[in-house]
Formats: sequence, structure tokens, C-alpha cells
Amino acid sequence: MTKYVIVTGGVTSSLGKGIIASSLGYLLQARGLRVSIQKFDPYINLDPGTMNPYEHGECYVTEDGAETDLDLGHYERFLNIHTSQANNSTTGAIYQTVIEKERRGEYMGKTVQVIPHITDEIKRRMLLLGQKGEYDVVITEIGGTVGDIESLPFIETVRQLRRELGQVNCIIIHLTLIPYLSAAKELKTKPTQHSVKELSMHGVMPDIIVCRTERVLSDKIRQKIALFCSVDHNAVIEAIDAETIYDVPLLLRKEKLDQIVLDKLRINTNMKPNLDKWKRFLMRLKNPMNEIQIGLIGKYVELQDAYKSINEAFVHASAVNECRVYIKRIHSEHLTNTNVAEKLQGLDGVLVAPGFGERGVEGKIKAIQYIRENKIPFLGICLGLQCAVIEFARNVLQLKEAHSTEMEPETPHPVIDRMENQKNITQLGGTMRLGSFTCQLQQGSKARQVYKKQVITERHRHRWEFNNQYLADFKKAGMIASGVNPDSSLVEVMELTDHPWFIGTQFHPELKSTVLKPHPLFVGFVKACMEGQED
Ligand code: GLN
Repeated sequence: MTKYVIVTGGVTSSLGKGIIASSLGYLLQARGLRVSIQKFDPYINLDPGTMNPYEHGECYVTEDGAETDLDLGHYERFLNIHTSQANNSTTGAIYQTVIEKERRGEYMGKTVQVIPHITDEIKRRMLLLGQKGEYDVVITEIGGTVGDIESLPFIETVRQLRRELGQVNCIIIHLTLIPYLSAAKELKTKPTQHSVKELSMHGVMPDIIVCRTERVLSDKIRQKIALFCSVDHNAVIEAIDAETIYDVPLLLRKEKLDQIVLDKLRINTNMKPNLDKWKRFLMRLKNPMNEIQIGLIGKYVELQDAYKSINEAFVHASAVNECRVYIKRIHSEHLTNTNVAEKLQGLDGVLVAPGFGERGVEGKIKAIQYIRENKIPFLGICLGLQCAVIEFARNVLQLKEAHSTEMEPETPHPVIDRMENQKNITQLGGTMRLGSFTCQLQQGSKARQVYKKQVITERHRHRWEFNNQYLADFKKAGMIASGVNPDSSLVEVMELTDHPWFIGTQFHPELKSTVLKPHPLFVGFVKACMEGQED
């Protein structure tokens, strides 16, 4: 039978529930348990697909094409599993299901209410992953902060669920903040007490309290929290600020979080967690022999979370190569003809990021011209590839007005264009080319050499594509389609033949990089940047 761990958050947002849930998931997995994690988001959007990255950070994409919260990226990176549509629900999606049911008359004329109809739908979704017996433990992260109006139906569902499943099958971990007041030179437990009180007002008592803190929790503080919040003394867990998020599983292991969870769920496993691979990864990450600086050109660079998966993929590739990767974030709108050389000076490689719309595109194109001409290693992702195509068309094929029809619908040279089946779409949400597609890599190409495979699958999130009418011209001039979708003939990877390392992908490789399976393109790119230094 599947057991459930619910993770709620109190006091403030941004405490890192996703990292705590992922770290616990990994620790349980390291003991041989089958684990999955899901997230419930209290906002009304159906999914984050239409949200501005400034609002919600990166939109993550699963194999089955769901546009999801970026925490699913952490789940995949820590647990090395694939998540799916079923791993992320929002209030909007829950209401949509209930309202559609109501329209079909399935409620038999009853008044449809938050309790029981919305909470029943939340419950159905919370139990869904565990139903097929595929997992021993399903961890459920509840987004938002306890006390928010919009989280209430979720907390109420947790109360019902726990009563129905029993305490040994469903436990609650509450993550809170223990702030340090420098004037008083003290860690303060009051916000945690209030937050637990708020939870208990809704009939939910936590079994374990995980305390985010800048300082070590003394035994006295732990006792106080245990007393006021009615949890066992050993169930007050310190989650101290870490040097990297990848330290968190080991820090929580020291606090015995995994053992306490197993005890409370009455799961008997004699297996000690095998953390060797993880420790080896950390060891390499923290003891680099080299360092490189990579430019990340995008228009959302002010916000770290906007390119979360790219940053993490570099961390994974950095460990493999034992090379520290410094990322210099460069705003694409700040790049001009006159400053591009200065802005890119000293960089060992450049990544041009995905994106939507016109803003910053000309800056990306200028940077790519400089990168191509000066033979700097380049990785272009999605819009990054499309900009490389536009640059090549304009400056090598001399099609001066070449553009993507996304930015210039009337361009005489639409080297990037929408597929026919995308042209009549009016709804924005969930209508891009989304999820995993197959790609065949060309023999002898750099991409093939990097992947060491002929057939790959990668995840997509875009509407525009390389226009195959120009394929022969590009090839003749030295930019080849080294990866093609065998079913649709869409171009998925392009590269320059006369350049040390210049690859653009229509898909998002960053979404599939994990700690235990770093992505070959990122590993190869970092390696190429290191090799470039030696020349
Ligand atoms: N805006 C481009 C498209 O829709 C690129 C999207 C992306 O970079 N994810 O095709």
C-alpha cells in the first residue's frame, strides 16, 4: 500500500519546500523505496504555461507535455524520475474538472460546494499517483503558505485524508522559518508556534517540523518547539542554510529525517541509504580543478528562477568535468553593435536562452554573430537556436531581412516559421509543441558525437520551427541540421561545420539533466569551453 507524506509551509514563502520534499524523496529512494512527488498550487491559472517568468520563474515541461511548476524540475533532478501531468495540480485545474462535471449533470442537481466537491476532487488527485501500486511513498507538496485564504481547501483535504487513511499511512511535515534576531542575539520560535496553531485550527497537526534557520538549533530551542507544537523532540528537524541545494539531502540525513518518516509510517526497511553516488557528485562539484565563465544571454536574467533548469544543468555538468562554471548573466536588451565585444570579453562560452516575443532578440542575434565569427563555443536553446538561424541567414546567406514570423510576420525570408497546424490556434495555454519528441542525429555530426547515440528524445515548448525550404541553402553554407524529427521532418538540432562547438537545439535539453544523469549537451559544452581555454 502506498503511504503519503504531505509537506506544508508556514511563516513565509520561499523556504524551499520543493528542495526539502525532493531531498526527503531522494533519501527514501536511496533506501530502495519507490517514491514520487507531486505539487498542488493554490493559484487559479490552469497551469503556469501562460505566466510571465517574472511572476513564477521558469515553466517546467514534463515528458507528456504538461507545463508545470518549476518544483517538478527539482523532483526530477533529485530523484532521477520522470514526472507527468498527474504530478501538478492547480486550484484552476481542480475547479475546471468540477465545473465540467457539473455541466455534464454528474452532481445530480446538487449544490456544488468547496466541501465536499472541491475537496473530493483534490483528494482524488492526491491519491491518483499512488493508485497503481507503483510507489511505496508519494510526497505531496502543498504550495503557498498556511494561513493564505487560497490554501484552505487543500489543508481541509489533508485533514480528511489523514482521517481516512490513518496516521500511520499519512504524515504531515510542516516547514517553517526560525528567524535570528541579531539585536536580541536569539533564534525565535514564535512565528513557528503561530503557524502550527493556524494549521491546528483547521484540524491538522504536524508530525514533523522542519525548521529553516541560519544558525544551529540548540537543544533548548528544539525542546521549546516540541512542547509548543506538540511534536516529538526528535521530530524537530534543523534545515540550516546550505552552500548548495545538493547538500540538503545529506544535512537532513544527519538530522535523521528519513528514519523518523519511516518510523512514523511504519515502513520497515533494514537497508541503509546508499548515498555514494550523491557524495561523489558533491565531492567533484566542490573540488574543481578548472574554472570557466559562461555568458547566459536572455531577457529575464534579473530573476534567477527564470532559467532554473539551465543553471542546474550547468551545476551537474560542472561536477562531471570537475570544473567550476561561473555564469555571467547578460541582458539581451543591453547588447548593441558597439558593446558586444566588450560584454562578451573573456567568456569561455555563451548560451543563448529560450524566450518569447520580440524584446531582446536583436541583441541575441548580434551576440551570436560575434560568437560565430570569433569561434566561441555556443549553445542555443529554442529561441537561442532560432536566433542563430536568423543570424546565419542574414550575415552568411545575405538574406538581410531574414527573420522569424513570430517577430516579423511580413518578413520576405521567414527562416523560422509556424507550422501549418499552429497557424489557426487562438488559445495561448497548452497549445505549443509540448513534451517529448524523437530526434535522429546525423552520423558524423558534433551532436551525435556528444550524445553518443543515434536516436534521442527531448522535450519541447515552442510554436515556431526552422523553415525546411531553406535547408539546402543552409547546408551548402555550413550550417547543417544534425538532428531531425523522423516523423515530421522538423529540424531539432543545427550546428556549424566550421566552428569548434556551435550547437542549437529546438528542444530544451536542460529539462532532462539530473544529478545522477547530467545532460550530455551540457557536459559536452562545458568540456568544449574548457578545451577552448587551452588553445
Ligand atoms: N518563441 C519561440 C517559439 O515559440 C521560442 C520558444 C522558446 O524558446 N521556448 O517557437
